[in-house]
Amino acid sequence: MKKILIIGAGGVGTVVAKKCAMLPEVFEEIVLASRTLSKCEKIRDDIMQTLGKAIKIDQVDADNVEETTKLLMKHKPYLVINVALPYQDLSIMDACLAAGVHYMDTANYEPREEAKFEYSWQWAYQEKFKEKGLMALLGCGFDPGVSSVFCTYLQKHHFDTIETIDILDCNAGDHGQHFMPNFNPEINIREVSQPGKYWKNGEWVHTPSILEDASVHFTFDYPVVGPHESFLIYHEEEESLAKFIKDVKQIRFWMTFSEKYITHLSVLKNVGMTSISPVTYEDKDIVPLKFLQAVLPKSGSVADTYIGKTVIGCILRGHKARKPVSKYIYNVCDHQDAYQETGIHAVAYTTGVPTMIGAQMVLTGKWAGEGVFNVEQFDPDPFMEELMQRGLPWKITDFNGTLPE
Ligand code: NDP
Repeated sequence: MKKILIIGAGGVGTVVAKKCAMLPEVFEEIVLASRTLSKCEKIRDDIMQTLGKAIKIDQVDADNVEETTKLLMKHKPYLVINVALPYQDLSIMDACLAAGVHYMDTANYEPREEAKFEYSWQWAYQEKFKEKGLMALLGCGFDPGVSSVFCTYLQKHHFDTIETIDILDCNAGDHGQHFMPNFNPEINIREVSQPGKYWKNGEWVHTPSILEDASVHFTFDYPVVGPHESFLIYHEEEESLAKFIKDVKQIRFWMTFSEKYITHLSVLKNVGMTSISPVTYEDKDIVPLKFLQAVLPKSGSVADTYIGKTVIGCILRGHKARKPVSKYIYNVCDHQDAYQETGIHAVAYTTGVPTMIGAQMVLTGKWAGEGVFNVEQFDPDPFMEELMQRGLPWKITDFNGTLPE
């Protein structure tokens, strides 16, 4: 009997719990735990009503290692799926080590006091996981996650050498709100408002943030949804791709933002509302970004009216049999289709489905090992087959367009 324990009952946690419940032959027992029990109750009841499957729920503060260890000892899962926030990565990894449980997540660790995310903190757990004979699988959502598996799949089947990787993430959806970040607003705003960087010839090249006039952007003509302005930002899979894709010379990440989004975010930043330093207001310490999150619309609350599609993929250029090759691999996901299936929009869906598939790879032993791993280190084929089956079909075409040099 393979039991999983999901930590985090937000947008992504909802999709992971539902998609796992749809595959009872792999996920025999499911426990969902989060900080706010009522959110777990809602998901549990919904799964019972729509799928007729019983899941267990529990309450945990995953910042607290002792409490999380107790939770793991109580439920004895085979694998913990961490879809809480990046702040909890290390405490949940510590609890997994203490309780002897495999671990996976979708976003690398980030300290609360500094908007900086990188793999170094989690890669430092390599020996600890090895010694315990446990596996930690890092960054298994869409991007990071599928974006890297797309690259290793193309590497395996279409290239001898890869010279450049461009990851392009377009959300062409319309949620009808003035301003609403794609996922957890606090994490999302920390990510997209910091300066950009990309990998070139073995080092990082720094670029201005999307909020500065000198930001790096171009118009890309996406399949199905057409041209969208795409901005160069830093994204965490660039670090693991640079480590695991041999001899790659350049890796860039582009994300679409509308003029309206950038205007709103610029104003919020200029008036201090995106700051992560506490301010004292009526004798209370308040973090402006946390307050902003509290007043912004909850992304789950608009899922029924969210229309349009996401298009996320990678363009790789390199050589095969000494001939130049350029390939574009991508997925198109419809917000309303995602909502009809899981009750939530495509941003959470495109993250949660690959997380479920990563867990499936671990539970079935198709991806196995002792230590800390990134998705680039495993055979992409079984994962890619599951993407096709489980709601995220992908397509490969020759790429004949141009990209900024
Ligand atoms: P949400 O804010 O919707 O959900 C986060 C959940 O985690 C909430 O239920 C929250 O509880 C819970 N949580 C927060 N702190 C704790 C804690 N200390 N202990 C227990 N539970 C806690 O976020 P999303 O679902 O949008 O995102 C989840 C994760 O997915 C994030 O890490 C995000 O970075 C990642 N992500 C990855 C992507 C990828 O493609 N790789 C894309 C999008 C997101 P409460 O309800 O009480 O606040």
